[in-house]
Amino acid sequence: MVYDQPGKVSIKRVSIETPELGAGQVLVRLLVYVVMMGSVPLADTSDRTHTGVCYSDHGLMTNAWARYPRPTLAGQIGGHEGVGYVVRLGTGLEGSSIMLGTHEVQSHLAAPLLCAGLSAYSALKKARVCPGGWVVVFGAGGGVGHLVCQMAARVFSLRVIGIDFKEKETLVRSCGVETYLALEETESLVKSVKTETNELGAAAALVCTGEDSAYSQALGMLRFNGS
Ligand SMILES: [Zn+2]
Repeated sequence: MVYDQPGKVSIKRVSIETPELGAGQVLVRLLVYVVMMGSVPLADTSDRTHTGVCYSDHGLMTNAWARYPRPTLAGQIGGHEGVGYVVRLGTGLEGSSIMLGTHEVQSHLAAPLLCAGLSAYSALKKARVCPGGWVVVFGAGGGVGHLVCQMAARVFSLRVIGIDFKEKETLVRSCGVETYLALEETESLVKSVKTETNELGAAAALVCTGEDSAYSQALGMLRFNGS
């Protein structure tokens, strides 16, 4: 699938010869074709029906980002969140632990983790908060934010304060947050976070929204040496 007319919402299916595998390479069958071509999945691939599509794919296709160094070139392959399975191993990989055609993780569960999931995970790793520490998540009900909340609470064992609009509260609370601050109901986010954290401030604040004011408010919520 390539962007045949960058600047417009348009994709084109182009067939190429399957390249020869080099040393250490693997051939991956992406599942996007199963869905987009409307073909019937094979019996043993019934759980392989989903792949990730990012909003930035749309941005690249339509040349929406003026700050990019150059516009998207016609013929660029679309997508960066493909879910697939390894169908062939290159030389040097025989006997390796790469599983051919494995489907341990169902595609509909893997698809959302390839951009939002990795962004969430890497942000939490870089924040380096000790288990039990407080972390504030701006945009807690968004595509990245709701994954940050789940990982922070259930993988990193952190105490999470989620911030978003009132309508997101049920979703965000189901992601394991301890405290929820609805934007419409909170006079001062900084003050509320301080109160919640015994006036110490949070060990980290993760901004998962494009709202500029979140960045400036985040600094005021941090404890000494916070990130
Ligand atoms: Zn993405």
